[in-house]
Order: sequence, then structure tokens, then C-alpha cells
Amino acid sequence: AAVLEVAGLVKRYGDKTALDGVDLEIRSGEMVALLGPNGAGKSTLMQLLTGLFVADQGSIRVLGHDMRSAAPRALASLGVVFQQFALDLDLSVRANLLFHTDLHGLPRPLALSRIAEGLAAVGLADDASRPVRALSGGNRRKVELARAMLHRPRLLLMDEATVGLDPVSRRQLTQAVVDLCRQHGVAALWTTHLVDEVAQADRVLVLHRGQLRFDGDIPACLART
Ligand code: ADP
Ligand code: ADP
Repeated sequence: AAVLEVAGLVKRYGDKTALDGVDLEIRSGEMVALLGPNGAGKSTLMQLLTGLFVADQGSIRVLGHDMRSAAPRALASLGVVFQQFALDLDLSVRANLLFHTDLHGLPRPLALSRIAEGLAAVGLADDASRPVRALSGGNRRKVELARAMLHRPRLLLMDEATVGLDPVSRRQLTQAVVDLCRQHGVAALWTTHLVDEVAQADRVLVLHRGQLRFDGDIPACLART
């Protein structure tokens, strides 16, 4: 089943066309890397997918829910990790995560069990009570990944999520994402410039000047270049 369906997406900033008619579909469990040079429109696409901006033309559907007419349902099916950190440094890991589960209306007992499970999955089972400030950048990012999954989204979106992390944290984070996709059928779409993070993908999308220039698997992508 399609988790994400994007059709004819156009986004302009003034007279600059950042996305120029993008069509794509992502299915349950697929792991997709979004590539392209600076200015290609990757961040713009991610921002439209998360409802931060509205497209000038075209449509976005998440699990069949239209981002315009059914935004709350569409957004409830998304998990998001972006380059910019978004955690309250002074609060504990658990308090940060409870804010998210409250936002999504999860009852406390369920929230606490999912938080424990989610932190265990990223190797931070013992850190729930620590202030986020005490965690390394890599561990903060793992907390953000755990948070992104607490409401059980079907599509995980990550925009340059490993930038600035040490290589060990990067690998652990990538592995956690692969596990989510393989074990729970979560689909993932991520932007990256790193070859080893592209290599994890089932499928590669290449954006250039706002248009999708390639959509296929890695062997086909290599054969073309
Ligand atoms: P990428 O993430 O691939 O580097 P972006 O989506 O950031 O690409 O940018 C696509 C194009 O849109 C670029 O030409 C960029 O300068 C322009 N752009 C991006 N964001 C804005 C904005 N908020 N206002 C105006 N122009 C923007
Ligand atoms: P398993 O027992 O299959 O190895 P767990 O149930 O322990 O996996 O969960 C591993 C990770 O996946 C945890 O982060 C958990 O929060 C998350 N998770 C579990 N079920 C789902 C689901 N249906 N959708 C998304 N994430 C899930």
C-alpha cells in the first residue's frame, strides 16, 4: 500500500521555482534516499511533506489523507527528524518525550511504556531521567528518533539528520532506522550527502532544479552515472 503519494507538486518562492512538478510514491517498509545538489529543492520537499509550507500546485497524500483537507490525519502518520535539534536542554529525556506523547493524545501509561521501549531501541534505556544537556549530540539525535516513533507513524522523514554527528553515532542511528523499517514496516525518506547512508536505501530519488531526474534502485542509479 502507498504510504506517501505526491502528484504534480509545485512550490515557488517569488519568481524562483523550487519544486517544478514532482511525482512520487513510497510504499510501506520502503527505505528511500533523497539526493541532489544544493538548491535542488530537497528541503523544500521535506517542508511541504511535514506541512510547514503549502504547495502552490499538486497534492500530498499520507496513507490516503490529503495534506490540505485532512492535515491532522496526514501529520499523525508522519515521524520527523530534521537537522536542527529540537529538544529542551533543561528538561529530562523523559519530559521531552512526554511533551510529544501529550501532543499526540497518548494516555500516560501507554506513553511511558512506549518511551521506555523507544529509548531501549536506540540504546538509551538508562538515560530517561538525565537532562538532555548531559547527552552527546549523537545521543540527542537518537532521542529525537525515538520521539519521532512514539505515535507509531508509518512514514519517517529525516532531513540531513546525521549532519555533525560522529561516525559511530551515525552508524547506530542508521541501523536503528533500518531496524524500524525491516521489523515494523515503517517507510523512511531521508536526505543525505553520505555514500554509506545512500547505500542503506532500497531506492534512490535524485532531485535537480526542482525536478525528479531519477527514481530507481541503486544498481540502476550507478549504471546511469
Ligand atoms: P536543497 O535542500 O536541495 O538545498 P532547497 O529546497 O533549500 O534545496 O532550495 C531550493 C531553491 O529554493 C533554492 O534555489 C533556494 O535558494 C530556494 N529557497 C529555499 N528556501 C527558500 C525560502 N524560504 N525563500 C526563498 N527561497 C528559498
Ligand atoms: P521487536 O520486539 O520487534 O524487536 P520492539 O517492539 O521492541 O521490536 O520495538 C523496537 C522499536 O520499534 C522501538 O523503538 C519501538 O518503540 C518501535 N516500534 C515498535 N512497534 C512499532 C510500530 N508498530 N511502529 C513503529 N515503531 C514501532
